[in-house]
Amino acid sequence: MWWNGEYMEINGTGENIEAEPIELKWVIGYSMLEPQCPKCKEMPYSTSYCMFCGQRFIIHEPTEEERRQAFEEKKKNIKGATWNEKFFACDNCGEDIEKSCSWVGHFDGVDDYGEIYVCKCGKNIHVGHSRYSKW
Ligand SMILES: [Zn+2]
Ligand SMILES: [Zn+2]
Repeated sequence: MWWNGEYMEINGTGENIEAEPIELKWVIGYSMLEPQCPKCKEMPYSTSYCMFCGQRFIIHEPTEEERRQAFEEKKKNIKGATWNEKFFACDNCGEDIEKSCSWVGHFDGVDDYGEIYVCKCGKNIHVGHSRYSKW
């Protein structure tokens, strides 16, 4: 916990060598698969240990096939924009949402959850994760 000094201590020494390493999780990020610390759910900024909680990882790099599957899944879970073989284009104005959108908040639904972005043209884009997906 960051407020009782434990975090500072772990942060100061880097990895937490007392905890057993656990398998690094991969999740669909805004553009591709990104690592996620299974312990604190943060983006660990390293694949050897988490910069936030010190948890060490066993790395299973996603295979090409897994990356492809994750990308197919992502195409289904973006609402308000469509993949045009180059980028995710806003369904309203056709702009590349990676350039035209800004983040507005989270959504938390029954079957999915994720982030809400708003395009320059005013359209809301939902970038979600299915609760049933392995990603
Ligand atoms: Zn962590
Ligand atoms: Zn737009």
